[in-house]
Formats: sequence, structure tokens, C-alpha cells
Amino acid sequence: MTAGGEARERAISRGQHLLSLQETDEQIAQLETEIAALEAALSGDPELERRRDAERAAEAERQGAEERCRGVERELSGVRQRARSLERRLYDGSVRNPQDLLGMQRDLGALKPRLDDLEASLLECMEASESAETVVAGTQVAVAEREAERGSQEAPRRERLAVARSELGDQRAVRAAVAAASEVGDVRIYERVAAHRRPAVVHLERDSCGGCHLPLGIREAIQARSGDGLVQCSNCDRVVVR
Ligand SMILES: [Zn+2]
Repeated sequence: MTAGGEARERAISRGQHLLSLQETDEQIAQLETEIAALEAALSGDPELERRRDAERAAEAERQGAEERCRGVERELSGVRQRARSLERRLYDGSVRNPQDLLGMQRDLGALKPRLDDLEASLLECMEASESAETVVAGTQVAVAEREAERGSQEAPRRERLAVARSELGDQRAVRAAVAAASEVGDVRIYERVAAHRRPAVVHLERDSCGGCHLPLGIREAIQARSGDGLVQCSNCDRVVVR
């Protein structure tokens, strides 16, 4: 190989090294995103939490309805007892004073609409309690379904996570090797550009930069095409390779 050819080989590999570095970085970033998503999915599930909240709310609603029913039942049984006792005393002959008897009849008459009201509210309350029960059952099914779904996804997720972590380790080793094989200055240039422009290494498009699409200078275009040295776009700073 001629000296010029050797220089060209080395020059081509400078750009190519940075291109490989960039590909490796992209794979690392993809794996990191995937790992973060898997870890988040394994540690928690907002949808399951939402369904559990709905179940708790429905259960609270059902308990509230039951308590209201018990309150109405207590009141109803008190009023019934009072009515029965009035009736007994009215007809058992123990009260003889006509004024007292009239008063008791009036009291008993006043209790009737109260009894009707309470019976109607008890019915209403029991209906509310029943429909709350149905809602609770529905939310329990929704929670169980989600839990089953998550349960069936857990093993494949853990498996993929283990594979992705091992792939990430491999890619980091590849990156270290590529970086070690590149010139230190080139890696710095790449990292500096990559910090604010991605991709930082682009291909030459005709005579233009593949990143910002503006034409390179004649000298840079020739240099990029021949792979002679490292070419950066004077407009966007990206490294331009053949
Ligand atoms: Zn450019």
C-alpha cells in the first residue's frame, strides 16, 4: 500500500470510527430508554392504581349506603314501636280519660305519614345500596383483570429486562473499544457536537452537509469525499463523512 493509500485508509477510518461511535451511542440510548420503561412497568402501574382507587371509592360508597340504611331502619323500628305501644294503650282499656284517648289517637295519626316516609326512604336506600354493590363488583372485576394481565406480562418483561441489561453492557464495551480506537481529539469533537446536534456525524449529500443541507466549501467537499482528515460543516459543526 502506498503512503497516500495508507493515509486515506486512516483518514476514512477516522470518520468511520465516529460513525460507529454514534451508532453505538444510539443503541445505548435506545436500550436505556427501554430499560427505564421496563423498570417503570415492573415497579408500578398507574392504570392498576386508578382501578384500585375506583374500587376503594365504590366500596366507600357502598358502606355509606349501608350505614344510611341502618340509620333509617333504626328510626323506622323506633317509630313502629311507638305506634304499637300507642295502639295497645288505646285499645287495652288502661286509659279511660277521653282527653287522653283523643290525644293518643292524634299522636298515632301523626305517626302514620312519618312511617310512610321512613319506609319509602328505606326502600330508596336499599336500592342505592344494591346498585353500589353492583358497582363494587364491577370495579373488583376490573382490578382482577388488570392484575392478571400484569401477572402474565411480568415474566416476559423480566426476561427482556435481563437481556436488555446484558445488551447494554455489551454496547458499552463496544463503545469503549471504538472510542479507544479513535483519536482522542476526534472523540471530543464528536461529543461536543453530539451534545447539541443529533446526529452529530452525517453523510455527505452530493456536495452538501447531510445534517443542515447547506453546501460545504469546495475544499471540505473534496476532503469529505476522499476521506482525507476529519471534515466539519462550517455551518452546523457536524462531522461530515463520505
Ligand atoms: Zn451542516
